[in-house]
Amino acid sequence: MTHAELNDAGICVNAAVHARLARFVAALLDENRSINLTATRDPDDAWALHVCDSLALLHPLARQPSGRLFDLGAGGGSPGIPLAIAREDVHVTLFDATRKKIAAQRRIAERLGLNNVTTLWGRAESSAHEAALREAFDVVVARAVAPLPVVMEYAAGFVRPGGTCWFFESCRALEETIAGAERAARRCALRLAETRSYTLPGGHGRRALVGYRKTRPLPKHLPRPPGVPKKTPL
Ligand code: SAH
Repeated sequence: MTHAELNDAGICVNAAVHARLARFVAALLDENRSINLTATRDPDDAWALHVCDSLALLHPLARQPSGRLFDLGAGGGSPGIPLAIAREDVHVTLFDATRKKIAAQRRIAERLGLNNVTTLWGRAESSAHEAALREAFDVVVARAVAPLPVVMEYAAGFVRPGGTCWFFESCRALEETIAGAERAARRCALRLAETRSYTLPGGHGRRALVGYRKTRPLPKHLPRPPGVPKKTPL
């Protein structure tokens, strides 16, 4: 996408940021030739699905001062890397359970010269109990990681009380998805704060961001041991 096309898609960034985003798309597609990071092969699709979708968070994040952002299940680096490019004042931790993906993210971040990015390998259910990570982040984001009640249990361990979790969801049956996660949200000390829907360019349809505010510290037994949140969601 050209800089003008990106602006037309509602994402207003300066020319230097656009140029770096273009380098991210190239690096992602390069890495994707040797390791499976995304089903996307076409640059226009990568712009829509990895850049525009990730940067839908720029609007809500504009209200958030600089701080620490945790991308849970970052895969090929979305949404964390595009956000790190567009918000140099935010420190982004890319977290994933797959070592190969963490290695690919590190190569991409190095190739782009990003110094506000850390990569971290781990399983959410375990890492969320480590003192250095427990409730240590202002914002936690997760895209395409697990059904909402499951990813909530993962995310709530990392976000500080008063911080926000943003989950990328499909627009389809969003009300039902949110209602179905209400009990898990209460148990995870999360309160629905905001939903935002938006349209991706290139006919990629409508998507939604669902934001939850962490209301109090998470009970110590959460998240439950590896595999349990997925097997028996809260
Ligand atoms: N967010 C990226 C990748 C989605 S694929 C994108 O939208 O393109 C989901 C990723 O979540 C995978 O890379 C997987 O390894 C990671 N993941 C799933 N469960 C996890 C867990 N319990 N802890 C850490 N990472 C997890």
